[in-house]
Amino acid sequence: MTQPHRPRPERADSPELAAFRQLKAAQPELAGAVDMQVELFVMQRRVQARLSTPWLEFDLVWLARQLTEGQPILRFGEIPFEWGEFRTLFRQVSEVLRRYDLLEAADATHVQQLIRAGRPTRDDVAAWYDATASRSNGQPSAETGQPEAVGQVLALTARPFLARTVETLHQRVDLAPWSRPYCPFCGGDAELAILLRPGERRLACGRCTGVWPFPEHACPHCDNRLPGYQTSYTSRDGRYRVVGCDACRRYIKAFDARRSDRPFMLDVDTIATLPLDAAALQRGYLG
Ligand SMILES: [Zn+2]
Ligand SMILES: [Zn+2]
Repeated sequence: MTQPHRPRPERADSPELAAFRQLKAAQPELAGAVDMQVELFVMQRRVQARLSTPWLEFDLVWLARQLTEGQPILRFGEIPFEWGEFRTLFRQVSEVLRRYDLLEAADATHVQQLIRAGRPTRDDVAAWYDATASRSNGQPSAETGQPEAVGQVLALTARPFLARTVETLHQRVDLAPWSRPYCPFCGGDAELAILLRPGERRLACGRCTGVWPFPEHACPHCDNRLPGYQTSYTSRDGRYRVVGCDACRRYIKAFDARRSDRPFMLDVDTIATLPLDAAALQRGYLG
């Protein structure tokens, strides 16, 4: 006799979901943002859990050269995309963003048209991925020809596929030769910084969730490395910090691991630091 199928409990015990619940209780004004992030998180993790583990073989000479020259190492063809799964998630992500009013009407229509035409295709995603992954030596990302909102939906959709690949690389690739302000895996920008201990800082990629070392007194926006150009202030609970650069007037938000009772969680900490953006703008910094 077969057992009746019981759906797996909805990861109610996942540390991220517990942290989201805590955040919502502590800061009820973030409830809407937390709810949306939880919906995206659950969808992304469901896809990520189903993907097989890619095993990438690197030519060590090639790898060393990429890292030294500042060129990201994760090539599009090596990411385990599953296109049916990708398009379903693309539709789901766009529905969530529309429901939370994060897609303007014109962008929502554009996304709808793409979906009806059976897109995004592999070529669409390759163009989007390579525009950023082909950057080197601080050159900005190339244009993809898609509206920014489509890029946002693509980024949220591609995330579990990229994250699945990058989680297998963290253990295997020595990132010591890399000290660029953008991601060594996919070329994405830093979303948050992580302060581990004095003098030791990491940056976390908003695109693939990769984490890499970056000098504490350097600016991830303009790469200014002269001392004395940073102004930093902490959140009320001491867990987060805003670090402003007085050379380019931009800022990065940081998770202070020394003052937190849990490890860094990109999905949660991105939302928890939303109030710091307003504070940074008030002090005249740009995001
Ligand atoms: Zn990345
Ligand atoms: Zn700067």
